[in-house]
Amino acid sequence: MPYFIDAILPIPVEKAFTYSITEAEAKFLQAGMRVAVPFGKSKVYAALVKNIHTTPPTLYEAKEIEHILDEKPIVTQKQFELWSWMASYYMCTEGEVMRASLPSAFLLESETIIRLQPEVVLQDEDLQDDEFLIYEALQHQSVIKIQEVMDILGKRKVLPTIKKLLDKGAISVQEEVYEQYKPKLVTFVQLHSHYKEEKAFVALLDSLSRAPKQRELLLAFFSLKAKTNKPITTLALQKAANATATQVKTLVAKGIFETYEKRKDRVEFEGETSGTKTLNEHQVEALAQVKESFETQNVCLLHGVTASGKTEIYVSIIEELLHTGKQILYLLPEIALTTQLISRLQNYFGEKVAVFHSKYSVHERVEVWNNVLQNASKAQIIIGARSAMLLPFYELELIVVDEEHESSFKQYDPAPRYHARDAAVVLGHLFKAKVILGSATPSVETVYNARHGKYGYVYLGHRHGNILMPEINLVDIKEKQRKREMTGHFSDTLLRAITDALQLGEQVILFQNRRGFSPVLECKTCGHAPQCPNCDVSLTYHKYRNQLRCHYCGHHIAMQLKCMACGSPDLTTKGFGTEQIEAELKELYPEYSIARMDSDTTRGKYGFEKIITAFEQEEIDILVGTQMLTKGLDFRNVTLVGILNADSMLNFPDFRAHERSYQLIAQVSGRAGRTEKQGKVLVQTYNPYHQILQQVSANKFDAMYEEQLQERHDFKYPPFYRLVRITLRHRDYQKIEESSIWVAKALRQALGRDAVLGPETPPVARIRNQYRRNVLIKINRRQNLKQIKGLIARVQTSFKAIPQYRSVRLIIDVDCY
Ligand code: ADP
Ligand code: ZN
Ligand code: ZN
Repeated sequence: MPYFIDAILPIPVEKAFTYSITEAEAKFLQAGMRVAVPFGKSKVYAALVKNIHTTPPTLYEAKEIEHILDEKPIVTQKQFELWSWMASYYMCTEGEVMRASLPSAFLLESETIIRLQPEVVLQDEDLQDDEFLIYEALQHQSVIKIQEVMDILGKRKVLPTIKKLLDKGAISVQEEVYEQYKPKLVTFVQLHSHYKEEKAFVALLDSLSRAPKQRELLLAFFSLKAKTNKPITTLALQKAANATATQVKTLVAKGIFETYEKRKDRVEFEGETSGTKTLNEHQVEALAQVKESFETQNVCLLHGVTASGKTEIYVSIIEELLHTGKQILYLLPEIALTTQLISRLQNYFGEKVAVFHSKYSVHERVEVWNNVLQNASKAQIIIGARSAMLLPFYELELIVVDEEHESSFKQYDPAPRYHARDAAVVLGHLFKAKVILGSATPSVETVYNARHGKYGYVYLGHRHGNILMPEINLVDIKEKQRKREMTGHFSDTLLRAITDALQLGEQVILFQNRRGFSPVLECKTCGHAPQCPNCDVSLTYHKYRNQLRCHYCGHHIAMQLKCMACGSPDLTTKGFGTEQIEAELKELYPEYSIARMDSDTTRGKYGFEKIITAFEQEEIDILVGTQMLTKGLDFRNVTLVGILNADSMLNFPDFRAHERSYQLIAQVSGRAGRTEKQGKVLVQTYNPYHQILQQVSANKFDAMYEEQLQERHDFKYPPFYRLVRITLRHRDYQKIEESSIWVAKALRQALGRDAVLGPETPPVARIRNQYRRNVLIKINRRQNLKQIKGLIARVQTSFKAIPQYRSVRLIIDVDCY
């Protein structure tokens, strides 16, 4: 009887592919294991076995698999279920979800790159013919692709040869699929069993009387042993005895010490845990309400004002669930910004916490993956940003989505363009797990779901310690300009408040939602402003680097001294960013320490951490930053928050702009006065009567919600309508014009005139030399979503079949943001 598998390939093809396997393979294989499979004329991929069966495909002849890559499944059945939902809901393929889910070390394809390991030199006679050919090719070329190896050897089955070269250490592959994952090993040292008896030991010490260093090592070992009862690493011993590795080795060679190795997972907590905090009365009440809501509902919104101590409530719930041994997923908007929270959780839960970090190396990610898959106790609580929800959970009991309103939960590019909060609700459902969505400024959609009985709702309106909410005052800068009460971008009111805070030894946060020095450099003579050659935007002036930079593609040129159009030296800057604010502050407060936190100053794995720690330790007096400052940071000594200009946020052309401005201002304000004293917030604006500013300064969340909801209703936006955005991209202007008109027309025919808007030119019409057009589809909540997506997919298929549009990229974004 013939046997087959259906396999998911990590590419955007709609259906799983069927491959044939032998009976023995069928016995061995399980769903969730990887196999190397041929694809197309000459490609090879690591594909995932979805199921094993005996039905041959009807439309093509099944190819054989090349070989099996795993001994055990690396993907779970629940993941397959989630992928299938994501692919269908977000209109992408399971292969794309697979690619987003698996650490790249698990993906292998013909594009995988091989390079020489220069430390290892092999002689001709060490190599078989095929191996020699590859080795030889790599002497002339620093890297080759597996694809090219196939050409060199004139055959397709090259993976075994590559594997042999890898085993010999001669080459490395970029994605390291063949390299067995190696956990980092730590060497420990112990006394040889001969000397465990006291008598033997004393004799040993005596015998070493003429080798003082060795004696010292031995004594150091004992004093370490006495201090901690834990195994001693050779490194610790070396340090304690001030000895070298060779000196330790000598004692091992003499049979006095023995060494042994243990695997150490890189992502590991070292230190002592502390007890959790006792909840205050409001938290106790809120916790009881959350638990009560979980009796009838699976999802609960915890709406707690800033510094109300939501984290402590999550912690209490987690604590109560730990004994079950099931897993808990804690999702955060941006992991790099949340080192504070991670150390808080690690303090409570120690080694049970695993962090899944996008900046981790491939190895570290594989490690977390395997720990989660095996339900290892060191990965019972998994903290991560949106992609952490794609890990291979064994059994999930609780999902916390912290700062659920954050837009970074939504993935823009590439597919799957999922919203991790929404997908987490589905994930929770698959596991029958409970989900808590927490925020001080929950999104309109989530509040709507809570008010309409879909989710539970718990409100926590008191800050911990009953500290008052910060006092928010609006400063009319039009008025201030008229009265000449501005110094640079600062009103006298703001400057006075800064001075007062600094004099009391308190810290200040200043928020400006733009980085760089100034977004536009303009010629006073002819009005020309330097543009990015690749994108339709002006270049931003970065004074520190003396450059003009594009924030969309990274293109940069040296700062110009003369106008590029007319040659006039009379240039002026318009608008301002964090860099300019920092520069002005340094002039105004030369005796204070001023730092800036934006994506220019926080590159690198620990970029944020350094600034956050320095601010925490009060080495910085004033911190200027972009919206990075809003993400749940908890500083004890900040009493003043200044927002330099609220208007650019409010005027952003987006139906969420008002909601977002409220959230941003409320969140950044929430950094003020978190421990003792009531905080103070000053918002500079040209529009002090703007509804949103009035609402946020009076802390009127409900009024904001009601008004926004009404607008969403009137203008057909979520939660009443679902939005699907189709974006077209192409290098050729004419082609993008025509094709977008075609798509809009076809969609109107399929879905009706009113359901389709556009084509529209987005605010930045060209990025990286690609022109863009958007077509927006609005789907009434009451309509059958599946059916409409089917119609959209059909338009997509017809579009792709038009020869002259084949090179136009069509991107579908469901629930676009
Ligand atoms: P939120 O996430 O709601 O903004 P946090 O959880 O960060 O608030 O809490 C704000 C501050 O109050 C933190 O410094 C936290 O340690 C402290 N805090 C909150 N609840 C308690 C409690 N029950 N006992 C002691 N300190 C608390
Ligand atoms: Zn000019
Ligand atoms: Zn650009």
